[in-house]
Amino acid sequence: MKLYFQRITGFVFGLFLSQINFQMNVFKFGGASVKDANAVRNVSHILSLFPKDQLIVVVSAMGKTTNAMEEIVESLWNRNEKRYMELIEDRYQFHQLIVAELFPEKHYFIYQQMEELFESLKKRYDQPLSDNYNFEYDQIVSLGEVLSTMIVEAFMKEEGHLTTWVDCRKIIRTNHEYREGEVDWAKTESLVNERLLPVFKEKRIAITQGFIGHTSEGFTTTLGREGSDFTAGILAYCTNAKGVTIWKDVPGMLNADPKWFDDTIKLQKISFKEAIELSYYGASVIHPKTIKPLQNKGIPLYVKSFIEPNAEGTVIQESMDFDHLIPSFIFKMDQVLMDFTPKDFSFIVEENLGDIFQQLAFYGVKINLMQNSALSFSILFDRSKTDPMKLVEKFKDQYSVRYNEGLELVTIRHYDQATIDRVTVDKRILLEQRTRQTIRMVMKNK
Ligand code: ASP
Ligand code: MG
Repeated sequence: MKLYFQRITGFVFGLFLSQINFQMNVFKFGGASVKDANAVRNVSHILSLFPKDQLIVVVSAMGKTTNAMEEIVESLWNRNEKRYMELIEDRYQFHQLIVAELFPEKHYFIYQQMEELFESLKKRYDQPLSDNYNFEYDQIVSLGEVLSTMIVEAFMKEEGHLTTWVDCRKIIRTNHEYREGEVDWAKTESLVNERLLPVFKEKRIAITQGFIGHTSEGFTTTLGREGSDFTAGILAYCTNAKGVTIWKDVPGMLNADPKWFDDTIKLQKISFKEAIELSYYGASVIHPKTIKPLQNKGIPLYVKSFIEPNAEGTVIQESMDFDHLIPSFIFKMDQVLMDFTPKDFSFIVEENLGDIFQQLAFYGVKINLMQNSALSFSILFDRSKTDPMKLVEKFKDQYSVRYNEGLELVTIRHYDQATIDRVTVDKRILLEQRTRQTIRMVMKNK
């Protein structure tokens, strides 16, 4: 009876919907915003604040599920059955707890869906593995998003929202670069037109997964860690949405990480260009990949608090008029500064640099800053990502290599002397680079 009623209301609503000119809006809810039952209830509350929009709602895996899924893949790969089953059981309990709070009665279809998903994951252990770790990773890790969207969608429906579940593995087309899928924009755009937009003839809200896509053969790919923001950007681009909102546990984009800085200030309005610069220098705000497609179509990106959804947040948009108003600080700790000097006393010229870069790229070193002089070339990198001793070993035949560790890199955008003084108290500056907008200093405690 209930189902019948829902179908009828759905149909009537569908007729009604087709009469109104809704505007498309894309929301993204990250892991923290769906980490427990209350958080999911809050998502429902936020959706109810936008009755006049059509919504594409992109959802991440719940809480820290992606990390847990990564461990599941690893234990599968290492043939550690005990650990594999334990980790699955742990994820099952985690989701079960949320579902039990949201859906008090066991007859809900979501219970069955969850059982099936976990059962097939367990059975996966006895099936043969391919020889491509990244492929196996994507097939399994993506299930975190599949699960969370199934739960969120079922609950939104229960709350009376006119929603449907959309499988992003059938919409975002990528190449075969597992774990770092590159989007095929033309194909994705046509799949959006074919499979996502028609949903809005009858529904007002489409709930789908962040972070995941598929190859031309239909295998699942992922877009790189933290890729859900990017999914929101892709879908907004392909649907010409009026905006994207990323709902976070902070009031918006802050001018520094509160971990390193007292009295941070919220940035009210900044340009796409500024957001890309900030993330280039290491601000963990929004991935530059997310910003580019929005910038291309002039679609504004809002960063808002899911705790205070009516507060203003930050808007990232085209105009650069506001960028200089508030200086931003980006800190990178535990840095290593390494100098290379050719042993044959040749100068640092193109051949040397070419050779050094090639080797650094080969060893996967991510350079945070570099500088060269006549006789030496210096790079700065994270101690946690690269072992300096190993690099010395690789380069020692051709170069004399020295390094200094325990350093800190501070970047200030829109600096002035007061901001510089503020961060250099009791520090010795080893290296400094300035442009008109940006100063970067490598420092050590005195
Ligand atoms: N769940 C994925 C991750 O944790 C994607 C995302 O949340 O953006 O990396
Ligand atoms: Mg996230």
